[in-house]
Amino acid sequence: MGELLHEVPTRALAIYAHPDDPDVSCGGTLAAWASRGCEVRVLLCTDGGKGSADPGCDPADLAVRRATEAVEAGSVLGLAGQEWLNYPDGELADDLRFRGSLVAAIRRHRPEVVLCPDPTAIFFGQEYFNHRDHRVTGLAVLDSVSPAAALPHYFADAGPVHQVSTILMSGTLEPDVWVDITATVDVKEAAVGCHRSQFADGAEWASTAVRLNAEDAGNHAGVAFAEGFRRLRLGG
Ligand SMILES: [Zn+2]
Repeated sequence: MGELLHEVPTRALAIYAHPDDPDVSCGGTLAAWASRGCEVRVLLCTDGGKGSADPGCDPADLAVRRATEAVEAGSVLGLAGQEWLNYPDGELADDLRFRGSLVAAIRRHRPEVVLCPDPTAIFFGQEYFNHRDHRVTGLAVLDSVSPAAALPHYFADAGPVHQVSTILMSGTLEPDVWVDITATVDVKEAAVGCHRSQFADGAEWASTAVRLNAEDAGNHAGVAFAEGFRRLRLGG
């Protein structure tokens, strides 16, 4: 059995690449924490404009549609707020400008817990490898949390320093903590289902995948449904 995370933070910030990533990656956890009084915010780094296989789909139109879907999903989860950096989909670079935006958001919202993709998770079996934007986001978030957001000479104009105490990385191949989402797996399913632009064949398979993944994680955690993370504890 893995370690179940029982504490609910006061403030949490989930930083992800695409409009549907937070819901798919940790929507059950975000909903559970929000329902228990945590101020949960989401920062979306790209506009998701290339997330279509249809050559006739205009990326600018898709970005608008996906933002609407994300707002809907955010209200399903009970988020306190959502922000967009609006980088073009697929074009994230782990550079100073990007990390400066992340540091500014971390210092502004002062979360105890930051959630992000695990950038070391690259190959998932023989059929899938992790999207470049996910990898870039994960690495940039780690470096922005520590040391950058916590030390004054990094991005000196980005507000007063802030020490994040915990990073939870989703989509990890090495989960070491689990959050029980038995009470919120339905909310997660509904939030993922808001991203209609991503389901050419209907949202049914996505619902099934959400439940199967949560059930699998639940088996490791000793509960019905869970989400697994790799945890880092920082700053004592
Ligand atoms: Zn994504």
